Amino acid sequence: MRATFLGVRGSTCAPGRDFVRYGGNTSCVAVTLTGRDRPTVLLDAGTGIRGATALLEGEPFRGTVLVSHLHWDHVQGLPFFAAGDRPGSAVRVVVPAQGGSSGRDLLAQLMAPPGFPIEPEGLLGDWSFDAVEDGAVVVDGLGVTAVDVEHKGGRTYGYVLEEYGRRLAYLPDHAPAAGVSAALLGALQGVDVLVHDAQFLEGERDRADAYGHATVADAVRLAERVGSGRLVLFHHGPHRSDDDLDAVAGLVPTGVEVLTAREGLGFVV
Ligand SMILES: [Zn+2]
Ligand SMILES: [Zn+2]
Repeated sequence: MRATFLGVRGSTCAPGRDFVRYGGNTSCVAVTLTGRDRPTVLLDAGTGIRGATALLEGEPFRGTVLVSHLHWDHVQGLPFFAAGDRPGSAVRVVVPAQGGSSGRDLLAQLMAPPGFPIEPEGLLGDWSFDAVEDGAVVVDGLGVTAVDVEHKGGRTYGYVLEEYGRRLAYLPDHAPAAGVSAALLGALQGVDVLVHDAQFLEGERDRADAYGHATVADAVRLAERVGSGRLVLFHHGPHRSDDDLDAVAGLVPTGVEVLTAREGLGFVV
């Protein structure tokens, strides 16, 4: 499978000249399955999801959006995803089950007047909204496992994607310092790529813990613990400039290959 990074920020967008090289959009990664020309799976629907329309080359999106959790920075792009919000689209949105609510109702907490002009059914095309429990998630052509992770303010999943024995783990918001479950360790063991929360630095530990996020060092420690092949630092703090991010990957010596996610980064897993 091929992963293409469309939005790499956490919390809120970071526009401006100090943020052009890594990009200012919030979380979204497009996944194109082997043998396909266009993505059919999107990880999160932050503002970066707008960039998926160009990858679809004029075609409507027909596939699955796996939402890690319902914080704004992971869903606010959904109604601005032009290739989804049009006739001919078929979009399945998967969100973590919580509070006994339907997927539609969970999204409608964020997407309904007076907070937003339309409700989920106002989107054009064929949309469905599924609140799923952890475990296996059925996605055409791909093995997907949803695993509960420590974060704050609502249920949060990490997703592990597997195709032809190659595995990509996506944990955009995660506080490993608050504890890593045996189930999560098992799911991450030996993943080929770990895309992980790296919003804070060690000097910002108090905020990382208070907000339920990771530091870069936390991400590296977890990658080493599970023996991941490549660590991609993701969900950068909105205050972290391009120059700051250039320095981030060099902060922690590690035997793991570390990349700092930027918009436009793409590679085959
Ligand atoms: Zn986030
Ligand atoms: Zn969050």
